[in-house]
Amino acid sequence: MKREKNLVLVSHCILNQNSVVDPLARARGAFPIVNKLVKKGYGIIQLPCPEFKFLGPNRKPMSKEEYDCKEYRELCKSLFKPILEDIKKYIASGYKLKTIIGINQSPTCSITGKQGVFMEEIFHILKRENISIETIEIPTDYVEGGKTDIEIY
Ligand code: SF4
Repeated sequence: MKREKNLVLVSHCILNQNSVVDPLARARGAFPIVNKLVKKGYGIIQLPCPEFKFLGPNRKPMSKEEYDCKEYRELCKSLFKPILEDIKKYIASGYKLKTIIGINQSPTCSITGKQGVFMEEIFHILKRENISIETIEIPTDYVEGGKTDIEIY
């Protein structure tokens, strides 16, 4: 089958809600938006979950200010490093990095508003590498079985 050669980067919990802080899961497993990505023919690159790596599955909800320390920023940078290496290889081979999908109001993965620590580091690195990318965000009221729809382009 012919490849579309289009890639999206997604926050880890879009494919795995088991990684979020315990009372905050909004789907049984993956977000239904993943079906739209599949229908569009996107290859999906799942970013790691920095909060899970830092504090594990039983962590408490924390603010960006509470996460924002040198150790956490270093973790975020190191987690993105292998992803960046893959992205560069794909781009060099004619693949397109279309979009990054984050989680609105996450202290780590929010893109708009108060940007999360991981997204800050990712955008900083992508800018340095001259890699441009569109953005989409999962809104706070998005829930499996709910009415909020997210347009994928
Ligand atoms: S850190 Fe990011 S990937 Fe992990 S649960 Fe929070 S929003 Fe999702």
